[in-house]
Amino acid sequence: MDIDRIKNSIRNVPDFPKPGIQFKDITTLLQDKDAFGEAIEAFYSAFKDKEIDVIVGIESRGFIFAAPLALRMGCRFVLARKPGKLPSETIAEEYALEYGTDAIEMHIDAINKGDKVLIVDDLLATGGTAKATGSVVQKLQGEILSYAFLIILKGLNGDELLKPIPVFNILDY
Ligand code: AMP
Repeated sequence: MDIDRIKNSIRNVPDFPKPGIQFKDITTLLQDKDAFGEAIEAFYSAFKDKEIDVIVGIESRGFIFAAPLALRMGCRFVLARKPGKLPSETIAEEYALEYGTDAIEMHIDAINKGDKVLIVDDLLATGGTAKATGSVVQKLQGEILSYAFLIILKGLNGDELLKPIPVFNILDY
């Protein structure tokens, strides 16, 4: 596994979308098909021996990794979306932002009781988005086996917020 290839393909953009944020831009990884493939294989080798029924991808960059991983694993792929995007009946969980709140929604028929679930996103920062996604999965009576992120920003302690559910990551900063 070529972790350096993955790491070197990610572009750091300082002060986006606001001063002080070091934005990890994965669009450059997506343009390097070998790096993108390495990232999917890194997720696959971490979870190939686990019994997983459903991979949940978090809007929107989570979809990019979750969908090919679900095909590779041979399991279902489910979308966790921002409010008002999913057309059928949904269930939601709100979470706090720096200013105000946001929410994550999923279709109520997306997860069956007892499904073993892996939740995927590109990056873990404070953990609010991932935690809200996990709460929706739990409301639907899915069992979360793990979270998986391409990148975690360690200083923000998002993995603490997600405890006791395991957190897998390929890169950290
Ligand atoms: P959080 O809820 O704080 O863990 O934020 C995670 C979400 O925000 C993920 O969906 C990321 O795509 C995005 N995000 C937060 N911080 C960054 C960053 N520094 N670079 C890129 N994406 C970020």
